[in-house]
Amino acid sequence: MCGIFGVYGHAEASNITYLGLHSLQHRGQESTGIVCGNGRQLIASRHMGHVADVYTEDRLAKLRGPNAIGHVRYSTAGGSHLKNTQPFAVEYAHGSVAIAHNGNLVNALHLRAELERAGSIFQSSMDTEVIVHLMARSEEPTLAGRLTEALKRVRGSYSLVVLSQGQLIAVRDPMGIRPLAMGRSHGASVFASESCAFDLIEAEFIRDVAPGEMLVVDHSGVTSSRPFADAPCRHCVFEYVYFARPDAVLDGPGVTDCRERMGVRLAQEHPVDADVVICVPDSGMTAAIGYAAESGYPFRMGLIRSHYVGRTFIEPQQSIRHFGVKLKLNPARPVIEGKRVVVVDDSIVRGTTSRKIIGMIRAAGAREVHMRISCPPTRSSCFYGIDTPTGRELIAHNHTVDEICRYVGADSLGYLSNAAMLESVAGAPGGDGSHGFCDACFSGNYPIEIPDPPAQRSGSLVGS
Ligand code: AMP
Repeated sequence: MCGIFGVYGHAEASNITYLGLHSLQHRGQESTGIVCGNGRQLIASRHMGHVADVYTEDRLAKLRGPNAIGHVRYSTAGGSHLKNTQPFAVEYAHGSVAIAHNGNLVNALHLRAELERAGSIFQSSMDTEVIVHLMARSEEPTLAGRLTEALKRVRGSYSLVVLSQGQLIAVRDPMGIRPLAMGRSHGASVFASESCAFDLIEAEFIRDVAPGEMLVVDHSGVTSSRPFADAPCRHCVFEYVYFARPDAVLDGPGVTDCRERMGVRLAQEHPVDADVVICVPDSGMTAAIGYAAESGYPFRMGLIRSHYVGRTFIEPQQSIRHFGVKLKLNPARPVIEGKRVVVVDDSIVRGTTSRKIIGMIRAAGAREVHMRISCPPTRSSCFYGIDTPTGRELIAHNHTVDEICRYVGADSLGYLSNAAMLESVAGAPGGDGSHGFCDACFSGNYPIEIPDPPAQRSGSLVGS
């Protein structure tokens, strides 16, 4: 779970990157970094924390130069350290290079072991670092050639922006699992994980980077190539369900449209007699609007979200500890009291939050609580860049819908079917029935084999 941004040939490259990262903050809140290039050298600024807190005017002023890449990071298992912030920047035989990665390399442990046996010394515990080591060993004469050679060895998901003194390269893995969009701002090429980053900087959205496409940007312009073997398209469907911002347009569909359609289909598949439809804000809001429109029941804000919950909260004293979800959400009693409530959320992971939320809605006087989820049961872990817990911790991994319903304390529970979810995103099914999406977290059908056993994966190497 990360966001990446890149700009080439802009008078205010680092400021533009700062703003772009701000729009991608939802993709990672633990750390952030910008690396700026002025043609001679790369200057890096990497910190733990949120974009708006980390980048002061002084820090940005030091990042002078027309080219920049940036990253926001949500570390997966065990990797929340400054050494694991990106962009990852190194000096090697060909000069300086920096790389920002969204995705997860499933064979990184194997590659790292092989590289270490051959003498490589790693600086971080990020999977991304193997790409840099493989590039350093390549004998290809160009940056694009070295990167291509390295990427042909890795397996998994990657959207990357890579910056050298003279070039910016944007590349997306052959299945296009994680998103990457291309735009233009005042004559400069810009790249971002989601198109909403372009809106803030008033860049024009040009198109999505195609799966397996590599774009090299330098003083002579933009060159596109497809250096990898063709693979079936497998965009991550969970980006549309939960992860991407609702104002993003990813590989065609607008995320808000998709979520509303999911809500409509959810109401068709799981109707119930009710008085009011509410959402778990913000994640369930758009699907709840669709559910309400289709069911004819009024949509109201029955849960109010505090936007001021910081990362660490000092709980005042023992007797009133464990606020948990109450810190973030509070019911609006007049909306709920005495009503038959439909509460819509995008997904259930462990079930613990949902259980607390339903407890809260009941405590606010609801007569009935019917939970509706705008995706299928999350049964399998993601190995391609979404931070889901291990299979065993996923409540739907080894519990039926009825058991989950009892655990969360709802009167009824309905999940959207896999077919309806895929139709909501893509329309008609593709020839192979996949619709061109990775739905492994729901179906268990992993489009890329997972060579590293999960137990090892959560050990020393972390995804991006
Ligand atoms: P729970 O009931 O504890 O499983 O929490 C469900 C909530 O977690 C939903 O509101 C989802 O929006 C949210 N959620 C879904 N996937 C993730 C994820 N990978 N990381 C953090 N939160 C998530």
